[in-house]
Amino acid sequence: MIKIKNKEKCSGCTACVSICPKNCIIMQPDDEGFLYPKVNRDCCIQCGACERVCPILTPIKETPFEQKAFLVQHKDETVRLDSSAGGAFTAIATAILNRGGVVFGAAYDEDFQVYHTYVENIEDLKKFRNSKYVQSQIGNCFRKVREFLKQGQWVCFSGTPCQIEGLSKYIGINNEKLLLVDVVCHGVPSPLVWNKYLEHYDFKENKPDNIRFRDKYYGYKYSTMSVIRNGENVYHAGAQLDPMLRAFFADTCDRPSCYSCPFKKRYRVSDITIWDCFSVYDFDKNMDDDKGTTRVLCHSDKGKKFVEEMKEVALCKEVLADKLVAGVKEMYESVSENSKRSQFMNDAKTLSGDVLFDKYYPVTAKVKIKTMVRKTLLITGIYSMAKKCLNRVRGR
Ligand SMILES: Cc1cc2nc3c(=O)[nH]c(=O)nc-3n(C[C@H](O)[C@H](O)[C@H](O)COP(=O)(O)OP(=O)(O)OC[C@H]3O[C@@H](n4cnc5c(N)ncnc54)[C@H](O)[C@@H]3O)c2cc1C
Ligand code: SF4
Ligand code: SF4
Ligand code: SF4
Repeated sequence: MIKIKNKEKCSGCTACVSICPKNCIIMQPDDEGFLYPKVNRDCCIQCGACERVCPILTPIKETPFEQKAFLVQHKDETVRLDSSAGGAFTAIATAILNRGGVVFGAAYDEDFQVYHTYVENIEDLKKFRNSKYVQSQIGNCFRKVREFLKQGQWVCFSGTPCQIEGLSKYIGINNEKLLLVDVVCHGVPSPLVWNKYLEHYDFKENKPDNIRFRDKYYGYKYSTMSVIRNGENVYHAGAQLDPMLRAFFADTCDRPSCYSCPFKKRYRVSDITIWDCFSVYDFDKNMDDDKGTTRVLCHSDKGKKFVEEMKEVALCKEVLADKLVAGVKEMYESVSENSKRSQFMNDAKTLSGDVLFDKYYPVTAKVKIKTMVRKTLLITGIYSMAKKCLNRVRGR
């Protein structure tokens, strides 16, 4: 029976809840807003299925195999600009929908809470576009996936690597109609902190049309948190100014499991892994137009087949797999916990959004100057050149 003694050892994937034959596990939020499984001992029959399915308690061994690698840009510029990177996810999902399948991904509900759901038509894929840097609630999606597969439908499930390993263990690795797509994952911030952010900007009362973590208002290389109201981009602030992005990139509010993540590896159970390519100029200068490029790594023949199908709607340039993954730190290494994390999270439990963010991420004169410098560098084109040099130094 699942018992959470150490929070670092549970990513909240819901595989245990989904497999329990007696439905005696529920997911409950802790005081940081992260969901954990809780077992009702009265109905547990000690079958052990929850422990066997858990991708952390019973891990899948990493085994090297031949991979294919691509750089992808969606041919529809609106889709590409709407996506975090090059829109590869939309291209993959479109191929599944064209086969009459369903696609699962992370979307907002009407209160901007992040949750997993599924769509059955191409227009609705826009719900999933753009990364939401908050842990999504899976709900009963794993069981829904199994139902669709039983009906003989194609299913694409996209999510973080821990969600994908949990689902793959729950379903069984080799289901021929299930296409698993994971992202290279920095970590997922707390839904409690996200709600403090929504409160800080009064987005709970005064709801915008959309909030985009990875907007290309200033281009792909300098993305912003943007707020869209009445079709207008009314707020756009980068990672040095916006408090939610600052907390995310400083690793102040991630789920405890993200600081010792066992899913950070090159050889995965997914069919396809997708992530950013800021240094596209190192592969092909002609593709470097600052509108976004996705790195796509195929782990299976099924994944490769879908890249072939994607070519109808996306430019896919094959590159060497070793080169694609070289220097990608987030693929292999967990982020380090910020020394102020526990203080920040304790304050998040009691302080209002305004007080919390003003205490830890105030907009000081230094922050304002940094923002101004960055904007000037952007306008003059120096930012792009500086980022190229930095990426080269980091080997990415
Ligand atoms: C939490 C998170 C952390 C990431 N960290 C990195 C990183 O460190 N380095 C890097 O290069 N790339 C990272 N990425 C991936 C990157 O941001 C892009 O999602 C990726 O490049 C694909 O871009 P795209 O344009 O092809 O697709 P997009 O249209 O941007 O597709 C977004 C995809 O991400 C999924 N998604 C969005 N939010 C969530 C969520 N909260 N939980 C689960 N799935 C979600 C959607 O279901 C969809 O499949 C991260 C993504 C997420 C969600
Ligand atoms: S041991 Fe079996 S019955 Fe008990 S919680 Fe786990 S899966 Fe459910
Ligand atoms: S990691 Fe997933 S399967 Fe394991 S205990 Fe947590 S929610 Fe359950
Ligand atoms: S860092 Fe690891 S544990 Fe955290 S969300 Fe990503 S895959 Fe899951």
